[in-house]
Amino acid sequence: MAKQQKRCSFCGRPESQIDFLIMGIDNVQICNECALQAAEIVKENTPSKSKSLQLKKEDIPKPIELKKHLDEYVIGQDEAKKYLSVAVYNHYKRLLQKDEHDDVEIEKSNIIMVGPTGTGKTLLARTIAKKLHVPFTIVDATVLTEAGYVGEDIESILTRLLQVADYDVQAAEKGIVFIDEIDKIARKGDNPSITRDVSGEGVQQGLLKLLEGAVINVPPQGGRKHPEQKMIAVNTQNILFICGGAFDGIEKKIALRLNTRVVGYTASIETEQIDRKNLMQYVAPQDLKAFGLIPEIIGRLPVLTYLEPLDREALLRIMTEPKNSILKQYIKLFKMDGIELTFQQDVLEYIVDKAIEFKIGARGLRSITETIIMDKMYEMPSKKVKSVVIDLEYAQSKIEKVNFNRLKIA
Ligand code: ADP
Repeated sequence: MAKQQKRCSFCGRPESQIDFLIMGIDNVQICNECALQAAEIVKENTPSKSKSLQLKKEDIPKPIELKKHLDEYVIGQDEAKKYLSVAVYNHYKRLLQKDEHDDVEIEKSNIIMVGPTGTGKTLLARTIAKKLHVPFTIVDATVLTEAGYVGEDIESILTRLLQVADYDVQAAEKGIVFIDEIDKIARKGDNPSITRDVSGEGVQQGLLKLLEGAVINVPPQGGRKHPEQKMIAVNTQNILFICGGAFDGIEKKIALRLNTRVVGYTASIETEQIDRKNLMQYVAPQDLKAFGLIPEIIGRLPVLTYLEPLDREALLRIMTEPKNSILKQYIKLFKMDGIELTFQQDVLEYIVDKAIEFKIGARGLRSITETIIMDKMYEMPSKKVKSVVIDLEYAQSKIEKVNFNRLKIA
């Protein structure tokens, strides 16, 4: 008689159809796939372990401490760093106020950071996240562009937060969400359009609900909602939202507003003092409205700050100064092979000038550097050398060979 195959006691499949079985007592066994599914179910249904989130005032980093941490990784952008540090600190205090009984309720201060692309918005958010004691996630508003049509539902923003909180709902409800590229859901133009603008206003209305504070049913696995999926209710009242966007062309709106004011009686002195080269610093809520954010959203993002465009000097500092600057990373890579890597100063300036020339800013510094030292990275580990020096002539020879457009996409 053929020996009877062992089966998974959960799905019933025989040993031949699965990878392996884990044996329990009394002939009960579970296959690898059922075990994984069981683990997921346990994760989703485990009651909150929020004790890990019991914040104590003394553990909370003070704004100056937070800014110092940001200074180690992000060059410049002092204004944005300050605003962000204070907002995060106040967020903590808001979370602590629950235990106190008085009539003053500290309201949530969501933030919006406006600044050219590649100036450090996401970097700021990522860097501050390392200092946080609450769940933190970054989501991209562009995936929401066609919400209700082909994109993701607005609720998926919270799915990500739930995931980083290990499905601990109470912890997620105290978290921080960075919404990148918020400008991409702006309405095209200031006037509410007669034709429906599905990619703009509809999404903003959905987002508004989240920002205001509401109980939202979140699909735990993200994606589109479907009827069988069990939803998790998440209250967004205490979730801090930080939004970032390049708002390309907003300077024109700012200039227009500033110029309009010239007509007024405060004109003469104020216009003289305007720094026309960096209009972003004057950004005001009405400019966001002119750009296409609905007033309700702007109202829910009361802290407005800006990032400066990065000049040559800032780009040079970015190459070398941050704790994990591009140069430090390459030097470390070579050091692991026992090779000392040095870049001559004029090479750094050349890299920065190329980034400016190709209009690829800070984001391009890495791709240019990589192009320059690619061959060295390829050859050196097999050679018995102790040091490599990159000089200007070598750098130029590598960059001149390369297709300009390839770097530009970086
Ligand atoms: P944004 O979100 O504003 O479009 P990012 O924060 O993604 O820009 O910046 C892209 C990359 O450029 C970063 O990962 C970082 O390497 C570099 N970078 C940009 N701005 C700065 C800055 N102020 N300080 C240090 N590095 C920066």
